[in-house]
Amino acid sequence: MSYCGARRFAYNWVLATVKTNLETRRAEREAGVPEDELTPAVSWKAKRLSTLWNSVKDEVAPWWREVSMHAFRSGIVDAAQALENWSKSRSGERTGRRVGFPRFKKRDKSVPSVSFVEINHQLSWLHENRHAIRLMLPQSTPDPDVKRRRAELAWLHTTTSMRRLYRLVEQGRATIQKVTIAKRGGRWQASVLVRYQLDAQPAVKPRKRHGGTIGVDGGVKHLATLSRPVPGLTDEHGHVANPKVLHGQLHRLRRLDRAIARCEKGSKNRRKLLDRRARLHGRITKTRALRLHHLTNTLAGGFAIVAIEDLNLAGMSNRKRRLGRALADASLRELRRQLDYKTTDHGTTLVVADRFYPSSKTCSACGLVKAKLALWERTYVCDDSRCGLVLDRDVNAARNIAREATRLLEHQESVAGLRPETRNAEPRPHKTMPAPAGMAAVA
Ligand SMILES: [Zn+2]
Repeated sequence: MSYCGARRFAYNWVLATVKTNLETRRAEREAGVPEDELTPAVSWKAKRLSTLWNSVKDEVAPWWREVSMHAFRSGIVDAAQALENWSKSRSGERTGRRVGFPRFKKRDKSVPSVSFVEINHQLSWLHENRHAIRLMLPQSTPDPDVKRRRAELAWLHTTTSMRRLYRLVEQGRATIQKVTIAKRGGRWQASVLVRYQLDAQPAVKPRKRHGGTIGVDGGVKHLATLSRPVPGLTDEHGHVANPKVLHGQLHRLRRLDRAIARCEKGSKNRRKLLDRRARLHGRITKTRALRLHHLTNTLAGGFAIVAIEDLNLAGMSNRKRRLGRALADASLRELRRQLDYKTTDHGTTLVVADRFYPSSKTCSACGLVKAKLALWERTYVCDDSRCGLVLDRDVNAARNIAREATRLLEHQESVAGLRPETRNAEPRPHKTMPAPAGMAAVA
């Protein structure tokens, strides 16, 4: 979509402009130019950058009339935010991992997306038929085809109904703040950021109370394993089964992977297969996320303390990992995200065990730590002959996670919400709820 290209163009233009400016000033300083005679610094504020963009757009992007100015605005705002994160990270104002100079967005490496942030007439963004969302069109366009089909092009059809959102906006109970259109999981998706007042605390469906602490271990073979069996949720060992459809989907995914490997690089066929793979992958993630909701509802509502293991997010992204592991990591992340807000809603506690804690190598009965436990060993056998524990590997790990949580709580460390990687994110305000997102099928 040309809008996403325009956003990417503006984003990269900001980075290039700022980078050149920084380099010029540095070179001038090194050449001994006095401070007040340096080339003036380019402001990093989105507003100033927009003004600058308007003054140069005829020159750098003579085609700017073809897309809405909102598309460029979206790129400029995001680039300004990225620059701010970078400078705050450098000055130590931002906690967590250091952020480098923002990277240029490449066509095939970045998620194509575009956001509209200047929402003036609220209801005009939603179609009366509740099944479409507005696409901002350029105000004046040289393209006669666009001119003729204006009314038709201005709407993106959504596959899910926007009725609930429409009603809230109509009654003035919700305000649309941002509309984003992005291609994720092989499909175009529209998401709407909304702010609205809640009448009271969110209604939480009462769950069967089990009480106590429960440990959760994410897995490949099973969706998760709990430290003790829960009737109706797990089998007699404590395993939560993967959804049944997943097996077939994984089989298809492997077959697609092999077909892609056989394809010639850069060929049309390969691109088609890659697109299909992305769609299938999106479906798999969704299948698991749906099942995870059932799991997290029971956990967050039924137990006073829910313990999970932290994920090594930084070390994961680059290494090539097996398909199953990648999916398990994705599930664990989703599990954590869901538990995070659901425990808050239920007034229960989520504890995240340190990722260096050897949950699978420790004996859950006597505490002995094995030097090595190969991945293929599905059963934990304790090395201490006096203990002699023989237990399913995942159940052993889940029990250890539960025990570690109890220990951590006694020391009052590591309670969710204080974790370093979430410190920079905005806290979840109680008055704001995620909006129902519609999926836009765009031709
Ligand atoms: Zn033991």
